[in-house]
Amino acid sequence: MDDRYDVVIIGSGLGGLLCGAILGKNGYRVAVLEKNAQIGGCLQSYTRDGGVFDTGVHYIGGLAEGQTLHKIFSYVGLMQHLKLKRLDRDGFDVIQIGDVRNEFPYAQSYELFVEMLARSFPHERAGIESYCEKIRSVCSRFPLYNLINGDFMDKVDMLDSNARETIDSCVSDPLLRDVLAGNNCLYAGVAGKTPFYIHALILNSYIESAWHCEGGGMQIATLLGEVIEAAGGTIFRRAEVSKIIVANGEASRVLTKDNREFAGKWFISDLHPVITIALAQTDVFRKAYIHRISGFENTCGAFIMNVVFHESAFPFRNHNIYYYSKPEHIWNGIDYEPDQWPNHYALFLTEGKDGFARSASIMCYMRYSECRPWAETFNTGSRPGARGDDYEAFKEEKASKLFDFLGQQYPGFRALVKAYHTLTPLTYRDHTGTPEGSLYGILRDYREPLRTFIPARTKIPNLFLTGQNLNLHGVLGVSVSAIVTCGELLGNDFLLDEIRNS
Ligand SMILES: Cc1cc2nc3c(=O)[nH]c(=O)nc-3n(C[C@H](O)[C@H](O)[C@H](O)COP(=O)(O)OP(=O)(O)OC[C@H]3O[C@@H](n4cnc5c(N)ncnc54)[C@H](O)[C@@H]3O)c2cc1C
Repeated sequence: MDDRYDVVIIGSGLGGLLCGAILGKNGYRVAVLEKNAQIGGCLQSYTRDGGVFDTGVHYIGGLAEGQTLHKIFSYVGLMQHLKLKRLDRDGFDVIQIGDVRNEFPYAQSYELFVEMLARSFPHERAGIESYCEKIRSVCSRFPLYNLINGDFMDKVDMLDSNARETIDSCVSDPLLRDVLAGNNCLYAGVAGKTPFYIHALILNSYIESAWHCEGGGMQIATLLGEVIEAAGGTIFRRAEVSKIIVANGEASRVLTKDNREFAGKWFISDLHPVITIALAQTDVFRKAYIHRISGFENTCGAFIMNVVFHESAFPFRNHNIYYYSKPEHIWNGIDYEPDQWPNHYALFLTEGKDGFARSASIMCYMRYSECRPWAETFNTGSRPGARGDDYEAFKEEKASKLFDFLGQQYPGFRALVKAYHTLTPLTYRDHTGTPEGSLYGILRDYREPLRTFIPARTKIPNLFLTGQNLNLHGVLGVSVSAIVTCGELLGNDFLLDEIRNS
């Protein structure tokens, strides 16, 4: 009897879990190996001091009926169980630059999006329309994003436009140009690098519809785990893969740190490609390939302060806020001088009682280099470790600066807060295994779009990649990547038909 799993999946982030659910649904016997005690990776949420905090999913786009993520989540049986709240239709994101009293909303649906921004920029209505048209036209060229089987060549000439230049070409009002790039933190955009298609695919999904997971994004991981187990799959927690054994050019099994072995016919890695290659340690990967992949720059990290408010202290708003003290920080927020930090934040609120917020996550960019003194430390829930008093002091100093910064826009902000704690790029590095705690994995560069193109197939014919480094990060991007990966086993036409008809 063949006691191998059909598919061994390394990592239980959204990518790994969704592959497990799709393949399980199609009769494959799946094992998912997760290094942490909890599954989910960036989907994880946790409760602290009475607040529920998301680690990496504050809001999701494309979940209304008929939209791409709705179809994918329906196919795996998730959609009817999700507890979602739609963000404000007339402004799911509000951009503030310089003065918080200047609010520029991004509305849901293209008509309303144009309408709301044209109220502040009536002279630019045609420009805003052409910006929307550009976004839609780019999105229409990415077949899988629209659940259509297509060719890589369909989108190839969409890959080499720069986000900032393209936005600037649509409108001429300098403030509106900044406003249109205002939720840059969603993709950690860099002025001279980020391609327009990244901006377009992400913005489009939220303009279509924008949702908050009530009670946290962890529900997605829990539900996917249930789907996998109901289909006969097994999830192994605290199973950190330390090696992928390759024999005769094929992967045969993986070893975990605690010396367990999992044999499989196929293997899928939801890890960063650099980590996957390091785990495989094989000369099947050519040196030039390893060198190229290892040389990729990753998106920056973030400092996150999670606060719980006193009762009836901070008014709840059913939208996210992106604030920049100066317009230049929209595109160069990561190039801060440490003594001038922070210069921006993204604020995500959760609802409390009587129109007030219970808690908030406040996120701003942080370079990994600031955390380098503690690079040798490690700390997660399943492998606790102390980073030292100096690290705690570093975090406290950053929290204090962020409180002061928030206090400039919301006088007395700190006094409204009952409890808080902070996360740094080190938290993310240790929790998800992402190099240097990068927010969204590989940074794409419009000048060399094919250099950072990562296919699902690898040189090892039965080892595939999935997750945020394939095409696009985010819940929608990773879900589309899972389809790409599963399509390698099931056939793209078959899988897309199944999803469209489900
Ligand atoms: C701060 C932050 C905010 C975000 N906000 C949003 C948002 O609002 N909306 C949105 O759509 N997206 C958001 N994202 C992006 C989104 O969360 C991610 O792109 C997506 O969840 C990544 O999924 P993944 O499957 O690629 O990998 P991950 O979530 O990184 O999962 C990888 C998994 O592999 C496990 N692992 C690592 N190494 C090993 C090993 N050796 N053995 C076994 N397991 C291992 C990890 O523990 C982890 O569980 C955010 C991300 C961050 C960091």
